[in-house]
Amino acid sequence: ARKRNIRVADTTCTYCGVGCRFELYGRGEEVLGVRPADPDQTPANDFSTCVKGKFGYDYVDSDERLTTPLIEEDGEFREASWDEALDRIVDRLTDIRDEYGADSLAVTSSSKATNEENFLAQKFARQVLETPHVDNCTRLCHSSTVAALKQTVGYGAMTNRINEDIGETDCYLITGSNTTESHPVLATRIVQNVRDGADLVVFDPRKMTIADHADQYSRTKPGTDTVWLNGMMHHIIEEGLYDEGFVDERTKHFDDLKDTVEPYTPERVEEVTDVPVAELTNAAETIATADTCVYGWAMGLTQHAHGTRNALAIANLALLCGHVGKPKSGLSPFRGQNNVQGGGGDMGPIPNNLPGYQDVTDDDVLDKFEDSWGVRPPDEVGLRVTEMFSAIPGVEETVEGEQGTDAYGGDYPEDGEAERGTDDPAADEGYSPENTDLHGMYIVGENPAQSEPDIQHAEEALAALDFLVVQELFMTETAKHADVVLPAASMAEKYGTVTNTERRIQLVRPAVESPGEAQTDAAILQALAGRLGFDWDYESPAAVMDEINDLTPIYGGVTYDRLEEKEDGLQWPCWDEDHPGTPYLYEDAFNFDDGLARFVPSEAADEMHPVPTEEYPFTLTTGRVLYHWHTGSMTRRGNASMKQVPESFVTIHPEAADRLGIADDEYVRVESRQGDIVVRANVEETSGPDVLFVPMHFIHGAVNRLTKEEFDPRSKIPAYKVTNVRVEPL
Ligand code: SF4
Repeated sequence: ARKRNIRVADTTCTYCGVGCRFELYGRGEEVLGVRPADPDQTPANDFSTCVKGKFGYDYVDSDERLTTPLIEEDGEFREASWDEALDRIVDRLTDIRDEYGADSLAVTSSSKATNEENFLAQKFARQVLETPHVDNCTRLCHSSTVAALKQTVGYGAMTNRINEDIGETDCYLITGSNTTESHPVLATRIVQNVRDGADLVVFDPRKMTIADHADQYSRTKPGTDTVWLNGMMHHIIEEGLYDEGFVDERTKHFDDLKDTVEPYTPERVEEVTDVPVAELTNAAETIATADTCVYGWAMGLTQHAHGTRNALAIANLALLCGHVGKPKSGLSPFRGQNNVQGGGGDMGPIPNNLPGYQDVTDDDVLDKFEDSWGVRPPDEVGLRVTEMFSAIPGVEETVEGEQGTDAYGGDYPEDGEAERGTDDPAADEGYSPENTDLHGMYIVGENPAQSEPDIQHAEEALAALDFLVVQELFMTETAKHADVVLPAASMAEKYGTVTNTERRIQLVRPAVESPGEAQTDAAILQALAGRLGFDWDYESPAAVMDEINDLTPIYGGVTYDRLEEKEDGLQWPCWDEDHPGTPYLYEDAFNFDDGLARFVPSEAADEMHPVPTEEYPFTLTTGRVLYHWHTGSMTRRGNASMKQVPESFVTIHPEAADRLGIADDEYVRVESRQGDIVVRANVEETSGPDVLFVPMHFIHGAVNRLTKEEFDPRSKIPAYKVTNVRVEPL
C-alpha cells in the first residue's frame, strides 16, 4: 500500500527465530515505524513485538550503510563501479581456481539472507565455482542439535509449534536458554502459560529472568549437562515413570539407553553438577508425570566440545517420557536468527547436504541436481566454517585445543548398527583442514572476525587469504580484511521468504529503497554467475522458489502464490501444492524407514571441562542480551539498543567481586590463555561465584578474544560456553 509515498509492508521480523509478523512503514530509504500485525494473522505473534522488533530498525537507514562497491588498494578502500568490482572478483576467483583448483575456494552464507538467497549462495558455490566448501553460521549455534536430532528422530528441526504446543503445554524443561532476552515473544507465551498453571523447570548455570517464573530452578555447573540429563533418565527408569507404551511401540535401543544411564545415580549427579539429589529427582518426576511437556534449549546446551552429546541426551529424555509426536509436547531447539532454520539449513549452504538435507554423497540426489543445473555438484563433504580458518596456508595452528577435541574422551556415541539413524556424515568424512589449502573466500553477510572463537586466529586467517570478498550492509570487522566489499540490501529492502524456528516459511516484503547502489544478495550472485558463464535468469524470488520446490521435497508444495494468500505461512514438510504443511512432526512415524525413533545413549565424564586452574580460576560463559543481537553489526547502530546497553560488560558474583576488590561498574581486565579484554564489571548474583558472563555483541571487549578454538568432534560447533579465565581490577 502507498499513501503520500508511505510504503507499508506486511513482513517478518529480521531478528530472532520466533518470526513475529508486523507492518513495517517506510518512505524512500527511511524507516518510519513498526506496527504489530493482527494476532489472528500471525501465529508466532499473539502479543506484540519485542523491543528489537519494535525499535530495532535504525540500522536500515543508518549513515554507516555501505552504498557503493569498494576495492582495497594499498591498504585503503576506494569506491568502484559495480562493473569494476564484479570484474575484479571474476578475475581473481578464476585465477585462484586455475592455479590451485576449485576446492581452494570457499563460500559462507548467512541466516540474515532469505531462503532464495541462501539457495543461490550454495548453488554459486557448487555449480558456478564447483567447490564443496560452503557453510554458514548455523555451524556456530545449533549444528550439534541438528546432528543429534537427525540421529534420534530424523529431521534436524524443532518438532512442534510455538503457539499451539509451546504455548499450551503442561510442563517445560528449559535449559541453556536465556529465553526472555533471546526469544522474548516466545518467552511471553511460556510465562503466560506458566501463570495459567503449567510447570516450569529450569536447569542452567545462570539464573536468568525465565527462571524467576519457574517452579524449580537448579543451578548447574557449566559443561555438565549430559550428566544431569542422564541422571534424570536414571531416576525415571528406576522409578518406572517412563512411557512404556511409547517406548515399546515407537522407539528402539531402549536397553542401550538403560545400560548407559544406569551409573548416573542422583548422588553421582550431585557430585559432578552441584544439583542436589532432591532437586534432580523432583524435576525428573515433574517432567515424567506430565501428560505433555516441551523441552526447550539453546546455545547453553549446544556450544560445547560435547554439544552433540548434550542434544542427544535431551532428545533421549523426551523420547523416554513419550513427549514427541503429539500436540503440546516436543523437542524445541530455539533457533537464534529469523532464517537460521531455512537459510542456514533447509537451503543447503552446509557442506554435507544439498537443499532439503539431501546427502551430497547420494548419486540419485546428485543426478537430480545435475539434470537441473547442467553441472554435477561436488560429491565430497566440504569444510565446515569453523575448519576453514585453519585451512588457509601460512596461518599458525590453533592456539589451544585441536579440531575435533572430544572433551570427555572415550567413545563418542556412534551410529552403531546402520539402522540407528542417520548421523551427520560431515563429521568423519571428506575434507579436513589438514588436507585442504584455501586461497579465496566469498562471505555473504557473516562476520567471522567477531563471531569465531579465538578471533585473533580468525583475523590472522582472513588477512592471509589471497582474495576475500565480503557482501555486507556495513564495514564490519570482517569486511575490513576484504579485497572487495559489495554493498548489500537489508531485509527491509527485499522480497523473499524466511523460515522460523517452528519450520514456518513466511514472506518478507520491502518497505524502503536500498541506499545508494546497494543490491540484494540474490541480484549480486546472479550478476556474478552470469559473468562466470552461467545464465541464471531468475526474474524474481518466486522463480528461485520454483526451483527450490522442484529440487527440495520438504519444500515441494511451497509457492509464492500460496504464501501470498496465507499470511501465516506454511510449515515444512510440505510435499506438494495440495499439502497443508506439517504443524508438528512425527505424529505417525519418525523420519526413518521403519518409522521408529532411536535412543542414542550419550556418555559423560565425571568432571566439567575444561577444569579451572589456579591461574584461571573462573569459568566464562557467553551469550546475548535483550537489546542486542549477535555480533551487533545491526543493533550497535540503533539508538534504543545503545541507550540501554552501550558497551560490553562482565557479570560477576558479589562474593567474587568483594574478594577481588572489584566494584560495580568499574573497568576490569578479563584474561584467558587466548587474550584479554577490558570491560565494565556488572556485579550481580545471576551466576554462581565461580562463573562469569560476557555478552557476544561488542567489538570493544569482544568476548571471542577470550574463547578458544575447541570443537565438538561431531558437529564442529565451537565450545563458546566454557572458557577458563581470571579477572582483576585495572
Ligand atoms: Fe523479532 Fe524475535 Fe522480538 Fe519477535 S521476539 S519481535 S521475532 S526479535
